[in-house]
Amino acid sequence: MAAGRPRLWFRGKGEVLLSAADGEPAVAPEAWAREAAERAEDLFRLRPQDVTVGRLPGDDAAVPPEGCLWGTFRELVGSGSRWGAVAGRALGVLNWRRDHRYCGRCGGTMEEHPAEGMARRCAACGTLVWPDVSPAVIVRVEKEGRILLARHAYRDREVWACIAGHLDAGETAEECVRREVREETGLEVDDIRYRGSQHWPFPNQLMLAFTARWVSGEIRVQEEELLEAGWHDPGALPRTPGRGSVAWRLIHGEW
Ligand SMILES: [Zn+2]
Repeated sequence: MAAGRPRLWFRGKGEVLLSAADGEPAVAPEAWAREAAERAEDLFRLRPQDVTVGRLPGDDAAVPPEGCLWGTFRELVGSGSRWGAVAGRALGVLNWRRDHRYCGRCGGTMEEHPAEGMARRCAACGTLVWPDVSPAVIVRVEKEGRILLARHAYRDREVWACIAGHLDAGETAEECVRREVREETGLEVDDIRYRGSQHWPFPNQLMLAFTARWVSGEIRVQEEELLEAGWHDPGALPRTPGRGSVAWRLIHGEW
């Protein structure tokens, strides 16, 4: 195991091996870790944190070590764990490595770069790539003290969240906010203000958080994206995304 014994174990899209006692990432016993390393989809050293990370397939059915359980990254972040940021970076880099096994220029095999941080290098043509992130916007739209929330067709359908979407090529973040709100709800907004950002490893997004003010229009949802949208009183909110997510901070007024 050239990368050393993993300190962070992931499984599938977003599960992480936690200690049942305190909910923090578990230190797996050596024997379990050795067997798991043989089944791992990926195993690498995260730098500069100097933490070894492994990921098992989503259908891995092996029993977790005694005193450990598979939790979720969302739970870990929601708990306020000091491991949240490192685990998020680890999961983002895992996702990037999974999608960059071959060179986009010549199709050659990518290998570890000996010196350049997390970069990978094409064994055939020498092309270098670094972990990338996809910028996305998320916006809390307000109208007379109420917040625009929507249930999304492709996420948890019971959860009400903010309008969000990926930046298109050539677009500013503010233009993206206007476009996403217009496309998904038919509303026009103004007074767009940047509030903060957060990395979100599903698969590797930089969420840029904004607030905006409703200017005109009646809600008319884009049915391919949204099931329902409406104005909500901050004092009587429906079920929203979990604590630790950028949506939670926006909806609950931390930003
Ligand atoms: Zn190449």
